[in-house]
Amino acid sequence: MIQDLFRAGGQSLSFEVSPPKTEEEFESAYGKLTQLAALSPDFFSVTYGAGGSRSRNTAQIASYIQNTLHVPTLAHMTCVGSKKDDILRVVEELKAAGIGHVLALRGDRPSWMPEEQFLGRDFAHASDLTRFLKENTNLHLAGACYPEKHYEAASMEEDIAHLKEKVEAGAEFLITQLFFDNNFFYRFLEKVRRAGITLPICAGLMPITTAQQIGTTVHLSGSSVPKAFADLVAVHADDKEGMRRAGTEYAIRQILDLKAHGVMHIHLYTMNRPRTTREIVEAIRA
Ligand code: FAD
Repeated sequence: MIQDLFRAGGQSLSFEVSPPKTEEEFESAYGKLTQLAALSPDFFSVTYGAGGSRSRNTAQIASYIQNTLHVPTLAHMTCVGSKKDDILRVVEELKAAGIGHVLALRGDRPSWMPEEQFLGRDFAHASDLTRFLKENTNLHLAGACYPEKHYEAASMEEDIAHLKEKVEAGAEFLITQLFFDNNFFYRFLEKVRRAGITLPICAGLMPITTAQQIGTTVHLSGSSVPKAFADLVAVHADDKEGMRRAGTEYAIRQILDLKAHGVMHIHLYTMNRPRTTREIVEAIRA
């Protein structure tokens, strides 16, 4: 079980991957996952399409990783626009796939979701989904947290108070939104611990390997970009391999600094990229 890793008190390294969007892409996805599994992560997490549009793909990929590649796997699940029955259907898909761990998320309303569906949702927040899953299933649950606060929260204090509700609802460990400046994580950790949240927290890091990726990532995550990193992107904007290497080295420096500060759990947003992930793993395990 994934939470046994944390109980054992050691370090952990986990990988986030995304399921393919179409049937034709599964074979190539399996190849990449096999290469990622060869790097011996402690667990994988598999993302979930906005509004549950491709929940079966999440279950299929999670099942492949856990049952064929034999690495414990956490399936993401969102509840925006979902009814209880929709969630129970996804729970059945995961059960059939042998998946016992879920990252319970609210999600964001996708542009295609009709207002009627959005307003008719049964769960307003991730803590409501967490409570429902805790009361109605045997799943082990994790939750998301935000070192720079969630973009909707009026203040960090308010966001942490809501995080506490998620923990009380049944989350057993937390994974952070990605960040490029470790100081945000250190300050967040201090505040979270002061608020009485003692759960293991995996620090989420994403290597930025293309200049375009930074626009999408910053837009989706709300994470701020430190000047040192913006300069690096500007220098390598027209040099594809140079940008990939510089982004990889930036992530390595971030992880080594986290480890030097005693951070035990690293979660890599791999973007399903075995080569960059391998370079990071080799550098941080050396
Ligand atoms: P919540 O915990 O519900 O928080 C959302 C906002 O509501 C926060 O501002 C919080 O302070 C506030 N809030 C919480 N409870 C209350 C309350 N009782 N009253 C008032 N306000 C409240 N998205 C996907 O679509 N698929 C994925 O696979 C996916 N994976 C992710 C993995 C990680 C590690 C992270 C960090 C994010 C992921 N996301 C994913 C994005 C996520 O869905 C969004 O960040 C979303 O906006 C918030 O989800 P949440 O679960 O943190 O929501």
